[in-house]
Amino acid sequence: AFKIISFGTRDNEVAHFDALNKEGFEMTYKSENLTHDNIDLVKGFDGVLLRANNVADKQNLDQMAEWGIKYVFTRTVGYNHIDLDAAKANGQIVAYVPAYSPYAVADLAFGLGIMQNRNLSGAVASSEKSDFRPNPASFVPEFQSLTVGILGTGKIGLAEAKLWKGVGAKVLGYDPYPKDGIEDILTYASMEDLLKESDIVSLHVPYFKGSNDKFFAADQLKMMKSSAVLVNTARAEITDEDAIIAAVKAGDIKGFATDVISNESAYFGQVEPAAVKDASSTMAQFQALYPKVVVTPHIGSYTENALHDMISISYQNFANALKG
Ligand code: NAD
Repeated sequence: AFKIISFGTRDNEVAHFDALNKEGFEMTYKSENLTHDNIDLVKGFDGVLLRANNVADKQNLDQMAEWGIKYVFTRTVGYNHIDLDAAKANGQIVAYVPAYSPYAVADLAFGLGIMQNRNLSGAVASSEKSDFRPNPASFVPEFQSLTVGILGTGKIGLAEAKLWKGVGAKVLGYDPYPKDGIEDILTYASMEDLLKESDIVSLHVPYFKGSNDKFFAADQLKMMKSSAVLVNTARAEITDEDAIIAAVKAGDIKGFATDVISNESAYFGQVEPAAVKDASSTMAQFQALYPKVVVTPHIGSYTENALHDMISISYQNFANALKG
């Protein structure tokens, strides 16, 4: 059998994998993430199956190659956690899941946008402290009067745009490769106009190392309205997190919600809750800004529909690898 070891495996995935199990594949499930410390676990397998917060840098890929592991699968849309140059040099084959239900991430971005725009996190945090006075931060225009800016109008961005369109918001989009035929859903604008006009700015831009690192930075934040909120369900690396922290602190933007954070393998997908020890870390600084800043633990694809798609496409990837 073609032996695959799956890392960062959640309990709800195992049943799905087993239900779909195709003849010829033997799955081994590990709940822990692949790191430098536990690389020994991959010995004896034909392939590894990863998720976003697993380490597949040159060191780990070289080690896998030494042990004869030719296949590196990831059940994620983003594949920036895999050093493609190293894999190529080792002759390793990398396969990913180009798409699953885009609404998995779009629904989350939509919800986070509503939460931060209406100051729901702040309202809940106050009532937890028995402060039941309405906070002016919750006094905002209704959906029908909001403008939402979608940066990156690919599969996920467009799915979020449809949700906002459906509740009556005005939707602006920016993308270097605009799509035809979506005039009913959104209006394309320059990045500058989008940032200046939007009440909610939602990022859906893929990260390409060395190309768009930290492109969403102080200049972009300065263009946003002080009443506007930023949502990132794409990748932390496309933003300058320090600039976001500074902008929230200074009141240059009203709030921030993120499903992604730099160094996220230290926190997300751990078997036990992860302690945040370093007060200067981005995570600690985000937590200190709660409820203006909220963090979700990379749950964009954590839906029933997406899970089903991720697992069936992963099996197709294994089957294609076997065919060569
Ligand atoms: P996609 O390839 O369908 O769309 C990406 C779009 O971004 C493209 O239209 C592209 O032209 C555009 N783009 C590229 N550079 C840009 C820039 N500088 N400014 C504006 N637009 C730009 O990808 P997708 O399926 O919509 O996924 C988007 C990203 O979401 C993924 O790359 C991944 O990093 C992230 N993601 C996150 C989760 C999660 O769990 N939070 C899950 C899946 C995907």
